[in-house]
Amino acid sequence: MKTMNKANNAKPIKKYCYFCTNAIKEVDYKNIQIIQKFLSSYGKIAPRQRSGVCSPHQRQLAQAVKELAICLYSPIPQNSNLLLIS
Ligand SMILES: [Zn+2]
Repeated sequence: MKTMNKANNAKPIKKYCYFCTNAIKEVDYKNIQIIQKFLSSYGKIAPRQRSGVCSPHQRQLAQAVKELAICLYSPIPQNSNLLLIS
């Protein structure tokens, strides 16, 4: 007789892409509030298995995080209103 393990019978929770469900076509690097949802406390990008983001949006998200990091570490020009957008 097979022993039944409760952990094996549990169905995995289906995760849906945040960007697809909210009809966001392009991940904007200036939208810091949304990007922060997919970053760990160490600033690393959450894997798809954990966040549930689809592969096209995961690639856009990775690019947006890199663009944001460049913006944050670069000196701000005097006439820039980048920080006023978000
Ligand atoms: Zn998606």
